[in-house]
Amino acid sequence: MDCIFCKIANGEIPSNKVYEDDQVCAFYDLEPQAPVHVLIIPKKHIASVMELEEENAAVVSHVFLVAKRLAKELNLANGFRIVSNCGEDGGQSVHHLHFHLLGGRSMKWPPG
Ligand code: AMP
Repeated sequence: MDCIFCKIANGEIPSNKVYEDDQVCAFYDLEPQAPVHVLIIPKKHIASVMELEEENAAVVSHVFLVAKRLAKELNLANGFRIVSNCGEDGGQSVHHLHFHLLGGRSMKWPPG
């Protein structure tokens, strides 16, 4: 499958990884939108939130525990935002489920 995040997960494409285990990996976004901008992805290919089912959804809670750990390690004690863009209206550009962990500045609401 020609998926850039699958290739990052299996090491075919280099990335600036900050965390990895058997289920997920996390790496810095190429085009950071905040002083800290990390992407956390399941290693197994899931295209988006719309492809989550009972059978593959457990990884999402693991992603959030990894986000909590990274927030501590990356000094985001003042707060942060976790975003998963889904589909065209959501602005999803890479069709492999991922969670943006953004921090290091005050976030605006609503997002654009
Ligand atoms: P989204 O638009 O929500 O699908 O997010 C995809 C994100 O992946 C964007 O923020 C891109 O900057 C980022 N991105 C794309 N290719 C890479 C890459 N090779 N390494 C790191 N981040 C990437």
